[in-house]
Amino acid sequence: MIAINNIHKSFGDVAVLRGVSLDVASGEVVCLIGPSGSGKSTVLRCINGLETYDHGDILINDARVDTQQADIHALRTRVGMVFQRFNLFPHRSVIENVMEGPVYVKHEPRQQARAMAEELLDKVGLNDKYDAYPNQLSGGQQQRVAIARALAMRPDAMLFDEPTSALDPELVGDVLTVMRTLAEEGMTMVVVTHEMSFAREVADRVCFLHGGTIVEEGPAKQVLSQPHHERTQDFLRRVL
Ligand code: ADP
Ligand code: MG
Repeated sequence: MIAINNIHKSFGDVAVLRGVSLDVASGEVVCLIGPSGSGKSTVLRCINGLETYDHGDILINDARVDTQQADIHALRTRVGMVFQRFNLFPHRSVIENVMEGPVYVKHEPRQQARAMAEELLDKVGLNDKYDAYPNQLSGGQQQRVAIARALAMRPDAMLFDEPTSALDPELVGDVLTVMRTLAEEGMTMVVVTHEMSFAREVADRVCFLHGGTIVEEGPAKQVLSQPHHERTQDFLRRVL
């Protein structure tokens, strides 16, 4: 579903991605791990066209991701993204936040959008928060609204960029539970995370990024328990 072929990316003269290749099959869950500054967020941002890349290509269902092209907006609706910070609209209620994309981007009838938003909010455990405002919710609840909002666009794949890193520890579990359910339902997911137990249990594959390249990848248990590469071993010693 997602094919990344040897992409390179520099900011000025700083090479941030130096030949990253990654294929993600439909229904697969891939976790990207690696130290701060290794290029994880840049990879995700390139996948859904928030960032350009200099060389190589990225195909989503065989369509090239090209920020210059008019259909880049259509592409972004097919790939949902959830960020570390929730980016909800503060002056709109929870349900309006979830309805926003379907109504204003996809021009769905409000009634239909509302029904789907309710269904998604129920799914993420917020059936009693439809009319609350973001600042009345905990960080974990806000992040679950952000997930529901991304799902409301009926994406083919979901990208998560450290979705639990900004949360108090006791709020992390509910968000990971929602993500685990999505994975079990067959959603194609690329997840940047420092939650190694989530990666171990949920990921089909783990990729370790360092200095803008994937230095090691494989089944989650192998990479996390018996990493071959010295840099992966170093990294895991520090985070586990
Ligand atoms: P990670 O998510 O693994 O922490 P990033 O992809 O955010 O890494 O960043 C990789 C490198 O690219 C870092 O050195 C960062 O400072 C740099 N970088 C990221 N975005 C920009 C930008 N917009 N302009 C300049 N440098 C950037
Ligand atoms: Mg990042």
